[in-house]
Amino acid sequence: MADTRRTAPPSRHARVVVTTSWDDGHRLDSRLAGLLAKHGVAGTFYIAPRNVELAPADRLSPAAIRELGERFEIGGHTLTHQRLPRLSDRAAGAEMRAGKEELEAIVGVQVTSFCYPRGEYAAAHIEFARKIGFTRARTVRRNSLFPGAPLEMGTTVHTYAHRVDGPIALRLARLRPRRALKLALQWDELALRWFELCLEQGGVFHIWGHSWEIDARHDWHRLERVLDHVAHRPDVEYLPNRALLGLTEP
Ligand SMILES: [Zn+2]
Repeated sequence: MADTRRTAPPSRHARVVVTTSWDDGHRLDSRLAGLLAKHGVAGTFYIAPRNVELAPADRLSPAAIRELGERFEIGGHTLTHQRLPRLSDRAAGAEMRAGKEELEAIVGVQVTSFCYPRGEYAAAHIEFARKIGFTRARTVRRNSLFPGAPLEMGTTVHTYAHRVDGPIALRLARLRPRRALKLALQWDELALRWFELCLEQGGVFHIWGHSWEIDARHDWHRLERVLDHVAHRPDVEYLPNRALLGLTEP
């Protein structure tokens, strides 16, 4: 990979922002937070405090959530990690609200960012998010340097190798097939390439994932590599998801 530190700085008006977000509230989020803190990179942890998809022993305890909240933004992710479109509108709204209230009781500050579990949502859920006081909601859409609509915010890279990214990898590799293959198979390579484009054009480099997934796939070294690469840049802003308001347009 070429050393992007030599890339010409973006024009004066093109802000370069790095943000990260981490879903679910697994106990390994504390390990992930340690890596972010070490690199001075901001992040938002979207936590379902009673996540039924995690064994109780694998969930972050209230004390661990409070500790995380002292350094990082805590965001809502429903109370029990429900797939919203499978619930009645009433139950979906209640899940979203209860998760927010429980987190606020733990961290003692307002929770204003939300993430739709599994990225599944409908128009009614956007409306609920707005009504109960979320100003930002993240989806699981990838491959963009601009977040888009505040309550349907997209991301850049997921810390997981999606094989369906072939055509995008080919475009990012400027049609060089071997390079494209590397980008398609290794999410850390893909992330570095997106960051390079972000430095050139400006935008928001948003990497997200799950600590349990990084652990299961033995990908901690990939995450460290990306954080090492994007951290401590003089012209880059490191912001939590809640601070992305106003950064919706290219
Ligand atoms: Zn989730």
